[in-house]
Amino acid sequence: MRHPGFPVDHALPAAHIGGTAEAGYTATLKTVTGQQVLPIEELLAAAFSKRLRFGIAIGTSGQVEIFVSALHCWSCGSETQIVSGIHVVVGPNRFRFSVPHFDSHLGLFELIRHRLPSNRQIGVVRQRYSRTQGQSYLSNGCVHCDAIFGQFYDHDDGSTGEKICEFAIAIDGQWLEAIHNRDGWGVYPRQAE
Ligand SMILES: [Zn+2]
Repeated sequence: MRHPGFPVDHALPAAHIGGTAEAGYTATLKTVTGQQVLPIEELLAAAFSKRLRFGIAIGTSGQVEIFVSALHCWSCGSETQIVSGIHVVVGPNRFRFSVPHFDSHLGLFELIRHRLPSNRQIGVVRQRYSRTQGQSYLSNGCVHCDAIFGQFYDHDDGSTGEKICEFAIAIDGQWLEAIHNRDGWGVYPRQAE
């Protein structure tokens, strides 16, 4: 199918096919968070072994990656580290979250908190009152003075930060709620039952 604007729908596995007979054909799938490009042979093999799936099912294996950034505190000027990104990788999808997203998923954040290395100068993650937002929410803080780092702090270098740890998860109901949007096709790796 060459038409680029095809609908993403659970009833119809749709892929954009490119390439040539000589070079081989590739299939491009619209996943939940982006695109997945793979040789068409792999797409077909995945389809026949039921690894071409719509949405994200409970029990799917995933991985959490935690990123930290070093920056200077807006309040006391000291250098502190903050949790700058929490990525959940599930098959071909990469969901990118920041700390405040977990304000409505505090139980999940406890899993993340336990994985934070203790030898880093990371400020405590807790609910703090933000005058800008007029409410309290789960936030980063300065490791020295506990000043809040709001949702839209400036990265020193514009990057996600440094990946400091990763761990495996099985997607359960709580993770599905945190992921929220899960409409998309994807080829998932083989997984131990
Ligand atoms: Zn400070």
